[in-house]
Amino acid sequence: MKWDGNRESDNVEDRRGDSGGGGGGFGGRSVGIGTIAIALVASYFFGINPATVINLLSGGGGITPSQQAPAKAPPANDEAARFVRVVLADTEDVWTAQFRAQGGNYVKPTLRLFSGRTETGCGLGESATGPFYCPADQKVYIDLSFYKLMRDRFKVEGEFAQAYVIAHEVGHHVQNLMGISGKVDAARRKATQTRANALSVRMELQADCFAGVWAFHANEARGILERGDVEIALNAATAIGDDALQRQAQGQVVPDSFTHGTSAQRVRWFKRGIATGIVSDCDTFKARQL
Ligand SMILES: [Zn+2]
Repeated sequence: MKWDGNRESDNVEDRRGDSGGGGGGFGGRSVGIGTIAIALVASYFFGINPATVINLLSGGGGITPSQQAPAKAPPANDEAARFVRVVLADTEDVWTAQFRAQGGNYVKPTLRLFSGRTETGCGLGESATGPFYCPADQKVYIDLSFYKLMRDRFKVEGEFAQAYVIAHEVGHHVQNLMGISGKVDAARRKATQTRANALSVRMELQADCFAGVWAFHANEARGILERGDVEIALNAATAIGDDALQRQAQGQVVPDSFTHGTSAQRVRWFKRGIATGIVSDCDTFKARQL
């Protein structure tokens, strides 16, 4: 992936090294181990913030973050942070143009780098659950050690796979701005678990498709893709499909419990996005076949 020298976003805040969260529980609300287990499963990998799930399960309405020191920008000589800033800037440029073309206004998200745990508008975020997006504060959260996990545990490496992770989370931000997240959350609350999972799968596959839309336009404008990059992203999508994850975790596959989509589905929707760059091609909610 070619990115060196491209614009860097100012919307990255660096909270690595902060103690974060003040320890203990999710915002002081009392939740059972079962609830936490469900939340962790529901949010496995880069899904919904577990704290959001816990809030839904326990009927809560968000947790107010306590006072924190002001966020700072990452140091300029930090290569990993610079990469994140360039990818975020690239998503800003693409989505600003996409929204403008539809007469809309793209509100840029903030991306927070953290280590371990951090307070978010959706409760306490933990690196163990992977990168996530919080609709309440419109921030993407990522602990960069996730990239090491991708490499060591799932054998996925390469800059474009790392960029895909960020673009997927930004895809959730786009869903939020489009009002899709709100509608889906409301529907999920009234639905059976199976139906709620099915809706979650469609949300995730759409975020994959949006990541593809970003890659299409970023490549058109800035020629970011190098030979093998698309395969790298497809490998990432394959490695993190629910079926692949479940097979690795428990040796069997339980489709009803899928919340992200199978490997084949994730690959298909990313491919669809990157093939045309057309946002309306990503309507996973209307699709008969995922
Ligand atoms: Zn996701």
